[in-house]
Amino acid sequence: MKPHPIENAPQEIPYYRPVANECDLFEHAFNHRLALLLKGPTGCGKTRLVAHMAARLGRPLYTVSCHDDLTAADLTGRYLLRGGETVWCDGPLTRAVRTGGICYLDEVVEARKDVTVVLHPLTDDRRILPLERSGETLVAPDDFMLVVSYNPGYQQMMKALKPSTRQRFLAITFDFPAFDDEVAIVARESGLAVEQCAPLVRLAARLRAMKGQDLDEGVSTRLLIYCATLVHSGMPLENAVLAAMIEPLSDEADVKEGLLEVVRVTL
Ligand code: ADP
Repeated sequence: MKPHPIENAPQEIPYYRPVANECDLFEHAFNHRLALLLKGPTGCGKTRLVAHMAARLGRPLYTVSCHDDLTAADLTGRYLLRGGETVWCDGPLTRAVRTGGICYLDEVVEARKDVTVVLHPLTDDRRILPLERSGETLVAPDDFMLVVSYNPGYQQMMKALKPSTRQRFLAITFDFPAFDDEVAIVARESGLAVEQCAPLVRLAARLRAMKGQDLDEGVSTRLLIYCATLVHSGMPLENAVLAAMIEPLSDEADVKEGLLEVVRVTL
């Protein structure tokens, strides 16, 4: 008889190029049952790192993109009416605890405050998940791991993680990869030659330097990959840069003009 496939089981290891000691730290955290907090701008590799490590460690991955309506019950589960019967349905966090998986809460600061109530007993030495509504208390197995991320750039005081929450996690700060790493990543992900990726990465560095001057966020590695993908598929360079590296950054005509000026002097 064929074994049942594990829900969310990784098929193959997604490509991830380490930029510092993050893979090593992740593995130590997993081995010692410690929770991990990833801080950094959007599109710099946090989600890819988690997917890569989950596959490397052979654990199923449950990813939740947090938003301001997300409640503890969305993570733990709820009773639902099915065919006239009320049945309990596990949420992604509960499934990760039951199966010994990795639960990744992306942009955790966006979630409602009651989410921290379920995270606290899971992230100290109790490692328990009390399911108030069903009356069960689950003890997390050794291979359960909680990973959360947030972007300090977007953070408002109201949404900051409280010290009592953040001090339950090991933490890593992410930034955009160093030049050679980013060129290698963009080339690998887009298929564009390294020599053609290098000027785009150089341009991204110049555009990132404008952060703060009317720009909230610099161009992400993700956008750089989109740009290189367009160029690789035959789009003229200027059009690709405009669509992938200028327009997504701002709606203001004068800000876009400033960015285009940087493009003109760089490319
Ligand atoms: P976020 O930080 O918002 O979670 P992602 O992990 O989704 O960002 O990264 C965006 C894209 O950038 C990924 O899909 C991947 O293609 C690429 N990427 C960024 N950093 C790396 C890296 N170190 N190795 C491989 N790919 C990377």
